[in-house]
Amino acid sequence: MSAALIKRMLTEPDKRLLWKFSYNFGYKGMRSIQKFQTRIKRGEYFPAFLFLSVTNACNLSCQGCWVSPSNPPKQIAPGTLDNIIRECKAQGSYFFGILGGEPLLYDGLFNVLEKHPDCYFLLFTNGTLITDAVAKEMRRIGNISPLISIEGLEEVSDMRRGGNRVYEKTLAGLAACRANRLVTGVCTSVCKSNIDDLASEKFINEAAALGAHYVWYYIYRPVGPNPVPELALDAQQITALRRFIVDIRLTAPVVVVDAYWDDQGRALCPAAVGIANHISPDGFVEPCPPLQFAKDNIGDGTGLYDLFNQSEFLAKFRSMCCSTTQGCIIMEHPQKLAEFIRTEGATDSSGRGTLLNELGRTCASCSHHQPGREIPERSRAYRFAKKNWFFGFGAYG
Ligand code: SF4
Repeated sequence: MSAALIKRMLTEPDKRLLWKFSYNFGYKGMRSIQKFQTRIKRGEYFPAFLFLSVTNACNLSCQGCWVSPSNPPKQIAPGTLDNIIRECKAQGSYFFGILGGEPLLYDGLFNVLEKHPDCYFLLFTNGTLITDAVAKEMRRIGNISPLISIEGLEEVSDMRRGGNRVYEKTLAGLAACRANRLVTGVCTSVCKSNIDDLASEKFINEAAALGAHYVWYYIYRPVGPNPVPELALDAQQITALRRFIVDIRLTAPVVVVDAYWDDQGRALCPAAVGIANHISPDGFVEPCPPLQFAKDNIGDGTGLYDLFNQSEFLAKFRSMCCSTTQGCIIMEHPQKLAEFIRTEGATDSSGRGTLLNELGRTCASCSHHQPGREIPERSRAYRFAKKNWFFGFGAYG
């Protein structure tokens, strides 16, 4: 971890927010993982983290997005959202990724989140709706970190997000977060058209200058109704991205996040090892956000603990994935995934009713699993964190 990053973290965010980030996210996140491991040893299952897509409404139309808006929009009812959070806390899981659509279009979101000052919420947002008033509200609540997506520099970003001046509005959102001294992140889905711009020291430094304290890199997945397979990274580009992440972590003035590799650079899939799952706006319990199929729904009347612990479907999914690849099943084996969904008779939870056709048309592509090309962490701090909190949990044998 670089001296520049430590200095920024100690001086830029509001001290109360920094404390919430360190304690609710850092310490309690670590305890959530320990409890997850203890449950696994007892033969029980409940994820350490939960991703909640609270609404399918969105104000943009990004390339490759798997969320299909509806009219009227679907959303998790506020009372249900509150219950989900309570049931997770009862199992020692205090960290939530709040997604959409665009979660800031969910009316009353902050009213629910502020009831849980002992949790930590990562708000996955396109940033265009973050005004000074919205940022002030997040500062008042104290345990919400906006994670703002940037899909390239101005020209590529506006093209990939289907709108004019999207980049400009996103930057205005970032500026509001900075002015209100929030712990703020930037996330980006890396593809062929933006890898040169985004996997660069220049981009990391610009993100830091704009007020980001962490940058989260994803690899673009050609999924959803309008996939663009030509944008998917090839094996060499994925290895180059991993190399870049490992190297830049030594000096970057931001935390550089990935959810793909352990301390030794071995691939893992968070859904396959079971550390995280996803609940859709319809209440379907899915392996992860882009995997839109399910056999369980929170409306079925089973408590959340029993639902996760007794779900044969999720258990079969984990086992099928782990015996197939340590990488991303959607990218590497879309046909096998389609076969699994068919055999299990799972519901297409995308709202489009075309998921099996989409998977049938998808060509296999590379994912982050590149056997023989593993690149271990170089930074001591990341190596320690990954070794203790982000690994395969024995799922791969
Ligand atoms: S299946 Fe793919 S997208 Fe889903 S958690 Fe695993 S690696 Fe990530």
